[in-house]
Amino acid sequence: MERRGQLYEGKAKIVYATDDPAYYIQYFKDDATAFNAKKRGTIVSKGIFNNHISSKLFQVVEKEGVPTHFVKTLSDREMLVQKLDIIKVEVVLRNVVAGNLAKRMGVDEGRRLPHPIIDLHLKNDALDDPMINEDTISAFGLGTREELAQMRAYALKVNQILQSFFGGRNVDLVDFKLEFGRCPSQGGRLLLGDEITPDGCRLWEKGTGRKLDKDRFRRDLGQVEEAYAEVERLVTR
Ligand code: UDP
Repeated sequence: MERRGQLYEGKAKIVYATDDPAYYIQYFKDDATAFNAKKRGTIVSKGIFNNHISSKLFQVVEKEGVPTHFVKTLSDREMLVQKLDIIKVEVVLRNVVAGNLAKRMGVDEGRRLPHPIIDLHLKNDALDDPMINEDTISAFGLGTREELAQMRAYALKVNQILQSFFGGRNVDLVDFKLEFGRCPSQGGRLLLGDEITPDGCRLWEKGTGRKLDKDRFRRDLGQVEEAYAEVERLVTR
C-alpha cells in the first residue's frame, strides 16, 4: 500500500490517502493539546507509543466482536485503516467520576459510578465540543437513531472488554472517548474509528490512583512520557 497526499491534519494525527480509495493511513504525531487546543506541547515519542497502543487495543476489541477501522500497523507511527466517513459525535463512557463530570456535578474525582454513564458531545473544536443529546443528533442529521443505539452498544462492549484487559494489568479504566464512522466500502457499516490511547482514556493505577494518561500533561504532573511508555509496555506485553 503506497502513501499518497495528505487529506487532513488533526491535533494528534495526520490522515493520508493511499493508492486504494478504500484505505487511509493514520500517522501519529507527538503533538499534544488540551482544553480544546488552548494548551499545546509535545510529548516525546507519543506518536510511537500511541500507534502501538491503539493497534493492540483495536485488535483486542475486534477479536471480541467490535468492528474497527484498523487493518494493520505499517511502521512505528503509521497505521493502515479503512476509509470512514466520521460521525461528528464523540461518545464518552465513564466508570468513575473525573474531569468534566466532576466539574459539572460539583463533586470530587474518584467516586465509582453505580453504572456506566455515556455522554455525547458534538465533535467541533470551534464550539468547544458541546454536550448534545440523541434528539439533537437525530434532528440535525448527524446520525440516525439506529446508529446511535449501535454506538452506545459498542461503547458498552468496548468498556467490558477494556475494563477486563486493563484490570488484569492493575489499571482502572476510568473513562474514555470513542469515535465511529460509516465505511463506504462496506455499504456504510458502522465501524469504530480514530484511536484508543491515553490521549482519550483515563487510566489510573489500581490502589494508588496514579494517573497514566494525558491528565499528566493537562495538569502538569510531570513524568508524561514515562506514563505513555508504561501504558505501551503494559498493553503490548
Ligand atoms: N476526551 C477526549 N477528547 C475530548 C474530550 C474528552 O478524548 O475532546 C476524553 C478524555 O481524555 C477523557 C474522557 O474523554 O478520557 C472524558 O473527558 P471529560 O469529558 O471529562 O473532559 P476533560 O475533563 O478531559 O476536559
